[in-house]
Amino acid sequence: MGTKGIEIVGMDVQELIRLLNKAFADEWLAYYQYWLGAKVVRGPMKEAVIAELLQHATDELRHADMVANRIIQLGGTPVPEPKKWYDVTNCGYDAPDDPFVEIILKQNIKGEQCAIGVYQDILKTTMTADPVTYNMVLQILQDEVEHEEDLQSLLEDFELMVKKQA
Ligand code: FE
Ligand code: FE
Ligand code: MG
Repeated sequence: MGTKGIEIVGMDVQELIRLLNKAFADEWLAYYQYWLGAKVVRGPMKEAVIAELLQHATDELRHADMVANRIIQLGGTPVPEPKKWYDVTNCGYDAPDDPFVEIILKQNIKGEQCAIGVYQDILKTTMTADPVTYNMVLQILQDEVEHEEDLQSLLEDFELMVKKQA
């Protein structure tokens, strides 16, 4: 940990670490939800959906890495026990029990919308208090906004195709 780097944070550092650890748990659960979704998904447009899910899984794992690095910089410890992810998560985990493309897309859209809300809140909290965290969270938020749009446009294509065939 860098002492001056922590000293300049204009908010309760333990509270900031707590918020970041909740986001850290979200990112791992989102990663796994995408990764498994890409394995099990079935139905029309499967190939396009798999490609997008895998790309998003990679992004979520990168977000977990970014958030973990910031937690460590602040003198904290990323949630050491995976079973604790369920206790601290904001957005939870939606198991891909039903592999149908439409269901998988909707589950992940819901997850992205939750993530967008979470990161928007952290942005507001850190805006003037901690520009370093703010900058990192802004980068992540940009990805989550892109993720939501990617999935919604796949869902729109799916729905148009279904309508045409009806
Ligand atoms: Fe993410
Ligand atoms: Fe995402
Ligand atoms: Mg994408």
